[in-house]
Amino acid sequence: MTSTPPTQKKEVKLGIRPAVLGVPAYPFTPIDVPIKLDQNENPYDFPAELKAEATRRMLERPWNRYPDLHADKLRDAIARFEDWDNRSVVVTPGSNVLIKILTELAGINQTLLTTDPTFSVYTLEAALLDAKLVQVSLKDDFSLPVAELKAVMEHEQPGVFVIAQPHAPTGYVDDRADVEELVKHAERFGWVTVLDEAYHQYSGTDYRDVVKAHPNTLSLRTFSKAWGLAGVRLGYILAGAEVAQNLQKLVSAFNVNILTETVLEVALEHPQYVGRIVQETIQERQRVFDALQDHPTCQALPSRANFFLLRTPDAQAAYEHLLRHGIVTRRQDSLHLLQGCLRIAIGTPAENDALIAAVKELR
Ligand SMILES: *Cc1c(COP(=O)(O)O)cnc(C)c1O
Repeated sequence: MTSTPPTQKKEVKLGIRPAVLGVPAYPFTPIDVPIKLDQNENPYDFPAELKAEATRRMLERPWNRYPDLHADKLRDAIARFEDWDNRSVVVTPGSNVLIKILTELAGINQTLLTTDPTFSVYTLEAALLDAKLVQVSLKDDFSLPVAELKAVMEHEQPGVFVIAQPHAPTGYVDDRADVEELVKHAERFGWVTVLDEAYHQYSGTDYRDVVKAHPNTLSLRTFSKAWGLAGVRLGYILAGAEVAQNLQKLVSAFNVNILTETVLEVALEHPQYVGRIVQETIQERQRVFDALQDHPTCQALPSRANFFLLRTPDAQAAYEHLLRHGIVTRRQDSLHLLQGCLRIAIGTPAENDALIAAVKELR
């Protein structure tokens, strides 16, 4: 005799790793307003004549053929531009992918060490890939906690140590001596150090010489910010030969498509446009900062990137006020040390005028 089984809800096991199940979906909601200051993008598009040239070259290329296996021609062009050994350049579609493979290289079953606050992608990849995440609080002035970081390097199982210079999301630039001290200590205790230089054009800082001197250290760079190519997706790493060779094993074949490759080829033949835009952004950053200096309730925090933090008495109210003025910013007020803070990108002069006027109305 058979009986029909009782209809009961059985917990379905999906076979998904608990680390992945435990991570909430990426919390970014695009908002359609005229003034977009929420993603630290370049306010200016890639120059029209270069777009036209890239498009012309695209039409001539066969689209039915696979691209270079490991983007060798593009890596050569980046190596020439950066004065680097071409075998020690690693490229992926956006530096987010680099952060993932760096976590795969040295974080999984090991440790990912960074600051708190930090760039959210580092902690996200550590969580997804189940690396042990150790975060050390920045000092109150946003400088690196050198002694505390060194202590962690000595006591934790080594892995990957990642910091951004300028720091994200504060825009703070540390003393070179502090960064070098950390690089040396990390090397001594067997850590791979990642210096994320996504915003270095805006700060005038450059750690290539430190990377050359320390084979465990690498510089992460992107075409998404100063180059104005966030939509095209390309990030790269300048490393020592051994780190680069091992990192390259983690890059999937054909990971840079011919569209990206062609646009980057044109951009690297005409890098002059970048400097002009960066100069304007630096001047505008100072102008916005000066204009908000005597604000009765809000404080613009100094930054050397293309964005800055605005500390407000009520981040939600400030965010909504700016949105009503057609300006979207990024709330950072839930982060450690950033109570009341919005992160705001420097836009075009007209966008910055609108921002200044709207912030001046805030109480
Ligand atoms: C924007 C940004 C990047 C670049 O990301 P892409 O994936 O290359 O667009 C890298 N690091 C930090 C800290 C950033 O803010």
